Order: sequence, then C-alpha cells, then structure tokens
Amino acid sequence: MSGGEEGPVCPADAVGGRLWDADREQMSLDELRETQLRRLQLTLRRAHDGLSSWRSRLAELRIAPEDVDCHGDAQDLGFTSPADLREGYPFGTLVVPREEVVLARAAARDGGALVTAWSRTDIEVERGLAARALAAGGVRRGDIVLDASGAGSPGGFDVTAAAGLLGATVLRAGGDPAHEPALMRDLGVAAVVCTSAHASALAGAVEDGAVDQGRLACRTVFHSGGPWSDDERRRVEAALGATALRLYLPDEMGAPPVAFECLARNGLHVNEDHYLTEVVDARTSSTVFEGEVGELVITTLSRQAQPLIRYRTGDLGSIIYEPCVCGRRFARISLAAERPVAERVATDER
Ligand SMILES: [Zn+2]
Repeated sequence: MSGGEEGPVCPADAVGGRLWDADREQMSLDELRETQLRRLQLTLRRAHDGLSSWRSRLAELRIAPEDVDCHGDAQDLGFTSPADLREGYPFGTLVVPREEVVLARAAARDGGALVTAWSRTDIEVERGLAARALAAGGVRRGDIVLDASGAGSPGGFDVTAAAGLLGATVLRAGGDPAHEPALMRDLGVAAVVCTSAHASALAGAVEDGAVDQGRLACRTVFHSGGPWSDDERRRVEAALGATALRLYLPDEMGAPPVAFECLARNGLHVNEDHYLTEVVDARTSSTVFEGEVGELVITTLSRQAQPLIRYRTGDLGSIIYEPCVCGRRFARISLAAERPVAERVATDER
C-alpha cells in the first residue's frame, strides 16, 4: 500500500473523503486490467499447483494458468460454490502449508461450516483495503473510531489495524448500543464501524433520549450486513447526525471490504485490483449486461492461502464501470439483496 497516512483529498470538493491508496485507486483502466490479468494468472497458478481439483479442471479444459484472460477464458473455468468450501472443510482448500495460516475464520453457511484462511500477507492486504474504506468515508489522523463491528464476527473487519494505518484512535466499548451514544459524546467519536442492525440500535438509543444528538461529533457510520431501506438509512443518519456508508463483506472473502461506498454514494466501489467481480444470471450462469441485476461472482486476485476462483456469493447486485466523481477508477456495485436463499444455485453446477 502506498498512500501513507490519510492520503490526498478526493478531487471533487463536493464529495470529500480521502484516497488512502491513490496510486491504486486512480490507476488507469489499462493499468488496472493489466494488474487484474497478471494477478488472475498467478492465482490460477497457485490453485493449479496446490489443489488436485484445479489441476484436473484445467487439464480437462486444456488450458494453462498463464493462458487465461479475465473475461472470455475465465468464463470457461466454471464456478466455485459454498459446497466446495464445505467439502474441503476445514483446510482442504488451502494452497499453502497449514502452518502459514495466521488467521482462520469460521462461518455457518447453508447448513454447513466454512473455514476461510489467511496468511500473513493476506492480512496485510486486508488491512490496507479496510483503510481505503475508512479514508473514503473521511476518517483521518486523530479521529476516534468506535469499533462496534462485533468481536468474533467472521466478516467483521479489522478496525484497529485499518484505523492505525490512518493515524486514528480506536475505541472498543463492549457493544452495548444503549451505552455507546454517551461514550460517543464524551470521547468525541468521529466514526463508527458496525453492522446495520447495530447502527439502527444506536439510532434508537439516541431517539429515546440517551444523548442530545447535537452533542455528537460523529460524521460517518460504516455499516455492513444490510439490508436497509432508504427510509431506515435516513432515520439512522438523522438520529446520529452522520453519513451512513455501506461496506460489502461476504464472509467467504473475509474481513476486507470487497466493496465500499465513497461519500458520493453512487454505489459501492469494488477493490478491483484485488477482486475480479462478475454479474451472472443466477439460473443460466451467463453474464448479464452492465447495470443489470444478477448474482455477484467474485475471484480473489491476491489471496495467498486460499484463493477463491469465480466464487458464487449468492448475493444479488449490478455493476457499472463509469468513473465516479470521487476520482476512483474502480467499478461500482449496487447491492439488490445479500444472500437470498431462494436464488441459491445448485452447488454442483460447474
Ligand atoms: Zn466514488
């Protein structure tokens, strides 16, 4: 990561926020596509060398990892499903020795347990991506950030590490939304990271008179694990006097936000240099047009311990590629629904 503390202010004055990793977040389209291709091929090489299932799959297709491109060829690779992770439980989908895993996250999914695994390098990448999201929401050096993301939550991102990169201070307070508004007032909390449900509970406590909203200094609430209606978002923002920004953290991708909102709030920017995102028709598996809703399919481009190739998230959304006013090059997704069980595709579909 190259941005250092804070990073430059986003170019559009009306947007605000900062580009923590400006060189990456603003890279040209050619540079981005070249980075994605190189990382996709490296990812396939790691999968090929580390997993017999991927060796077989690529042999059947008669393609070498270095021959695959990001679009046409990649679509021939089939998909990875939650069932693949369940079948590999707990460590059967690692491509590094188990001893190189420094963090494992376990999550329940579709009636089974999934384990995702992280190497030291994976953790460093994760922290940088989390810092991007906080900087985009205006967190800066000296700010106090309330970490109410839920200790032990597999998808909760590492607020302490991300805020530390930005020179901010983290407050951990135990997660009781009835008491946190008073702490936010007393300590001058500038931002909160939490689930959508927790943000709603904080707003409820303020509405019930826990504190005078005018004495809160909170500017941004980063929330994940929707869904929220527009009305609920407005209610939370009014109660806390803050802007609510959404994070997309599918459990299998772990803690770094795959995508995050900037202050322009025109969709969630995908960290495209680390995640290749496709949108497919959930039933036919064919790619849908830009802007159309389908199932989000994500390929990790930098994960060392446990790469996921064309992983079917089960989440519905759409993607657009036009540049955002904030100066970021990265495509933006709109989430229509996270984890709709009724839309789950057959797990043996490859
Ligand atoms: Zn933006």
